[in-house]
Amino acid sequence: MKPEEQAVLDLARAYLTQLAEQGERELWIPKANLPIPQHSSENAEPFAEKETPGVRERAPAYGVSGERDLKGYFNEIKDCRKCPLCRTRKNFVFGEGNPGAKLVFIGEAPGADEDLEGRPFVGAAGKLLTKIIENGLKMPREEVFIGNILKCRPPGNRNPLPNEIEQCEPHLIRQLNIIRPKVICALGTFAAQTLLGTKVPISTLRGNIHYYQDIKVIPTFHPAALLRNPGWKRFVWEDIQLLRREYDREVSSEFNDA
Ligand code: URA
Repeated sequence: MKPEEQAVLDLARAYLTQLAEQGERELWIPKANLPIPQHSSENAEPFAEKETPGVRERAPAYGVSGERDLKGYFNEIKDCRKCPLCRTRKNFVFGEGNPGAKLVFIGEAPGADEDLEGRPFVGAAGKLLTKIIENGLKMPREEVFIGNILKCRPPGNRNPLPNEIEQCEPHLIRQLNIIRPKVICALGTFAAQTLLGTKVPISTLRGNIHYYQDIKVIPTFHPAALLRNPGWKRFVWEDIQLLRREYDREVSSEFNDA
């Protein structure tokens, strides 16, 4: 066997071992020649056309170029084929919201509803997130930006694989560099652990302020986990109060520095 063939085999063995260690019992192999399915809502424009009164006025000056950059970046990556999820997705879910947002929510990955619509957090967990933002934080959903660690739905809503996170993370980093939020709310284990580069459980991470570069990160339980465990509502409520305080502090200190 040639050394390069051996290297490919070694890589495949390492990847399969990693999957087995994560508890994967089935290997999903894409059909190589299948075209990517085209759907009517494929790559729906992620930026809301409708304006929320007051939101644009509050957007900082860089939000204007941020919008242009974010749209440009969407066009750059909307046909991404860096990992096998491109073969099973119906839509690439870039994220949506205010390109000049001071507050960004990051979830795990699109589910079935998000995959169909090409928009993040539109299913049951999304409805709960909207309530948390609008009733808990007292902000319109359109004022924040909402995205995910993965831009494409893992088949059957399984957990993201390390390789998928690795391929997709640069998209998120670039989005955050364009938006430049002051505070990030990490929703659930995958968002918190990926942003913070840790394996510490979400139950330990939540309730505290962490940092991604110089941006404050406030982790909390994922809304889908909250739907399954209504008793966690009080923890999320505490985290949302913390989020609101930190958001107000950041926005007012930016205003005072200006
Ligand atoms: N769960 C997520 O993590 N993201 C979505 O967009 C929807 C559900």
